[in-house]
Amino acid sequence: MAQAHKLDCESVSDTCRFIIQSENEDEAIELAQKHMREVHDQDLSEDELRENHLQIV
Ligand SMILES: [Zn+2]
Repeated sequence: MAQAHKLDCESVSDTCRFIIQSENEDEAIELAQKHMREVHDQDLSEDELRENHLQIV
């Protein structure tokens, strides 16, 4: 069964309802990095995202 990698931006920001969900971890991380940079002015490394923000669902 395929697992999906999910980032719920509510864990970062109280006001952002952005959610990324992808079966491809690399894609989820890439989208998350882009969103964090463009919307939240935060530059997060892949490791930070993977360890702190991505959930496996
Ligand atoms: Zn956000």
